Amino acid sequence: MPGMSSSTACRVAVIGAGAAGLAAARALILEGHDPVVLEREGRVGGTWVYTPETNSDPTGQDASRNAVHSSMYQSLRTNLPRELMGFRELPFLAGESWSGDARRFPGHEEVLRYLERFAEVFGIREVIRFGKEVVRAREDGDGRWRVAWRNCENAEEEEVFDAVVVCSGHFAVPRLANIPGVEQFRGKQIHSHNYRTPHPFRDQVVVVIGASSSAMDISQDILGFAREVHIACRAANIDPFGKQPGCSNLWVHPMVERICQDGNVLFLDGSSVHADVILHCTGYNYHFPFLETKGAVTVDEERVWPLYKHVFPPSYAPRLSFVGLIQKVLPFIQFELQSKWIAAALSGRVTLPSREDMNTNIQVFYARLEANGVPKHHTHSMHLNSEDMFEYYDWLACECGGKPIEEWRKRMWAKAAIIIQAPSRLSKPRDLRNVPEEYEAYEEFAGCSPDAAP
Ligand code: FAD
Repeated sequence: MPGMSSSTACRVAVIGAGAAGLAAARALILEGHDPVVLEREGRVGGTWVYTPETNSDPTGQDASRNAVHSSMYQSLRTNLPRELMGFRELPFLAGESWSGDARRFPGHEEVLRYLERFAEVFGIREVIRFGKEVVRAREDGDGRWRVAWRNCENAEEEEVFDAVVVCSGHFAVPRLANIPGVEQFRGKQIHSHNYRTPHPFRDQVVVVIGASSSAMDISQDILGFAREVHIACRAANIDPFGKQPGCSNLWVHPMVERICQDGNVLFLDGSSVHADVILHCTGYNYHFPFLETKGAVTVDEERVWPLYKHVFPPSYAPRLSFVGLIQKVLPFIQFELQSKWIAAALSGRVTLPSREDMNTNIQVFYARLEANGVPKHHTHSMHLNSEDMFEYYDWLACECGGKPIEEWRKRMWAKAAIIIQAPSRLSKPRDLRNVPEEYEAYEEFAGCSPDAAP
């Protein structure tokens, strides 16, 4: 690597102080590097910092909108049990002095407290610079990275770093589905990014587009307020479509065929409804507006490419890396393992394959996705592109000399997946997190932690 000896401490810019940025800072410190975390907001936690504020444009498509980062809604509870959700290095246990919500699937405030605790325990706060919005990061010619940010006074500042780790999150730029006629809809439209509370939906007929966790959770949230909730989704394994048993105001339909000028929404099965609100739960775009790579790293249909193992662009590896791009996994553990790998690659403790070999690996991976009919936009959706999450995690752990994932975590994940795999929940309009039998399913894991695992 130009300008770096085989074993060296690097000065590293980490962009973002959400869970991924905290994990990156921790791993870099542990490896003897000197990280500087640049965070636009005034506190750690990223998307877990709930705010009642929303984007000025409810669908989030107007580039001049005031952009709010967090997608949290007031009632949100985790869709992972806390034992699985936490970092391996600091178990997310209930009943500790900092904890205020002992539920197995706690509310968002508890996750934020946990992340604040993580930052405190590992001395990460000292390396965070708050109120710094990174506006530019580009390679400086000698392999190092010139990073510029705007401070709270709106003045630009710039420094040169040995490496950059991108931890800016990917749940802040709303994506909309392409629905014929949606532009002529006269009612309200909102993206789930801007959903906060159910009250504005009182007595409304709401069409929810999508079958993700957010679509399911928000539908349940508004059921007690809205007159009717109609979920439109692509998932083929829904049974039954139509009015949902045990629920007087919830319907599930196939996707929307088109929206008419009079407000009628036509579904592909020929059914229709006159909607007051369209709620887009259609996901988010990867977006790295600060990254200047002259096309060496781009986003194409939600594929961030080319990336070796979802982390390193070969032409800049290991000095540019991304943490946390993979979706519908165990996010915090992913952040932890990817960060350790990055830190070890930067110090020279781990040697990455040659640029050519990384590129070949990437091409083989993309070819396999294509052969299996996996659309580009699922490149980083591990459960949908048939990559195995635990195989990937164990591979990362092994690369940097760590322990493989504990068996109890794998068993617990098998039980938890039912909550994450949203379409299977459509026929059960209830919150699995509150159903006693589901809690009983976790009893074998009582009191588990990395050291005291059953
Ligand atoms: P973020 O938390 O988004 O943090 C990114 C940080 O980067 C932010 O602080 C932001 O201000 C900062 N930033 C961005 N751009 C810049 C810039 N240019 N300059 C400086 N700073 C910048 N995961 C779970 O494990 N369990 C759950 O139950 C769960 N529920 C979820 C529910 C919702 C509604 C959403 C949206 C996500 C959920 N997730 C859940 C996934 C969640 O996103 C991850 O758990 C994790 O918090 C993501 O962390 P991150 O650090 O990658 O991104």
